[in-house]
Amino acid sequence: MSDCIFCKIANKEIPSNMVYEDDVIAVFHDLEPQAPVHVLLVPKKHIASLDAAEFEDMEAMGWLLHKVKDVAKLLNLENGYRLVCNCGEDGLQTVPHLHFHLLGKRKMTWPPG
Ligand code: 5GP
Ligand code: ZN
Repeated sequence: MSDCIFCKIANKEIPSNMVYEDDVIAVFHDLEPQAPVHVLLVPKKHIASLDAAEFEDMEAMGWLLHKVKDVAKLLNLENGYRLVCNCGEDGLQTVPHLHFHLLGKRKMTWPPG
């Protein structure tokens, strides 16, 4: 999608601090990190949110989730991490391109705010 910031990052039209990419997903550091390690995992295909994912997106989403542990290992999150997906208005999703936050290197709290 032409005016989507995460599409532009995934397509390298705008710079980011990319930590991993393949044909299906891109992983880059969040602009405003909420933990010592805070990266975003996105499908390269524009999917607006978890709610908007279609049956045909299942393989890409499965691949993305499968790669989480590899990215965590790459970033030395040997003590654990949190994976977050904000969806829609109540979920406080601010960028309408499906993304998962991977946060680590600090003790998380529960429940989230
Ligand atoms: P959301 O609130 O939609 O779950 O998360 C969007 C995230 O994207 C936020 O954590 C925000 O800091 C990050 N973000 C917004 N714009 C940019 C950008 O241009 N580059 C990067 N790397 N992160 C961004
Ligand atoms: Zn997009």
